[in-house]
Amino acid sequence: MQAVTLNNGVEMPIVGFGVFQIPEDQTQAAVEAALEAGYRHLDTAASYGNEEAVGAAIAATGLPREDLFVTTKLWIQHAPTGSVEDETKRAFDSSLRRLGLDHLDLYLIHQPLGDYYSEWRAMQQLHREGRVRAIGVSNFHPDRLIDLIDHNEITPAVNQIETHPFHQRATDQELMRERGVQIESWGPFAEGRNNLFTNPTLSSIAEAHAKSVAQVVLRWLVQREVVVIPKSVRPDRMAENLDIFDFTLTDDQMSKIATLDTGASLFFDHRDPAMVSWLGGRRID
Ligand code: NDP
Repeated sequence: MQAVTLNNGVEMPIVGFGVFQIPEDQTQAAVEAALEAGYRHLDTAASYGNEEAVGAAIAATGLPREDLFVTTKLWIQHAPTGSVEDETKRAFDSSLRRLGLDHLDLYLIHQPLGDYYSEWRAMQQLHREGRVRAIGVSNFHPDRLIDLIDHNEITPAVNQIETHPFHQRATDQELMRERGVQIESWGPFAEGRNNLFTNPTLSSIAEAHAKSVAQVVLRWLVQREVVVIPKSVRPDRMAENLDIFDFTLTDDQMSKIATLDTGASLFFDHRDPAMVSWLGGRRID
């Protein structure tokens, strides 16, 4: 599996398997099938409610721990009278316990909301203690990312953001490259929104390579050196989504896909006050 090298030297497989919105009672089977298909990089989050099932699948397959790259995410921590740093360490321990692991490969701040500077300080400490190989963020717009970098010791290794043909993030990626932050796409297929799977531009490129639209989208991201974590509950699609290393998109095809960019989210804006308030009020445990 092709890998990217993070800013601290850790190698991260460029294709992983995402488990958002897989119901808890289906997650173990899905992750076992994904590991069987050849995925070695898994992406979950405390807020997905399925870390235990991911851990059960890891245990059931018995793969050596060092062959796996496991990411989970810290939900927004609340400590009105206490310490957000302590709450972050407690949340990290809970995630590790649910996953049945003794260390993580990547721990991400899930949202750029709340007291994430305290969260980051705690994560830096967890990293120094060797309990997590790399730390990063998710859903950070450039302004917040740069501010976090400029006022802390460790630069996030990764920023996991919505990235797909309709929201391509080329400028954000360039800035992240300058600062040593690896871009990782969430929602590579935009969850099928905007009729992605039948888009005429993507379909004609897929036809030219005898590949599917899904494979063209993932190939386009990987050629841009974007880490991808497609989700599927279907083993045939899990295999299809891994089978993207035997063809190359031409410069002309890359340019055609570039024209699909709308420069806007198809989901929600992390700067929308109503969304900030809704996410910030959400408690997961
Ligand atoms: P995706 O863009 O990966 O789309 C998933 C959808 O595409 C599912 O409906 C799936 O259906 C379908 N699909 C998958 N493969 C194919 C295929 N080859 N052909 C046709 N349809 C296909 O959406 P996600 O939101 O799941 O994003 C991926 C991962 O990113 C998440 O699982 C999660 O790990 C992460 N994420 C992170 C967020 C964050 O805030 N940090 C936010 C959202 C996601 P089916 O399952 O039926 O095959």
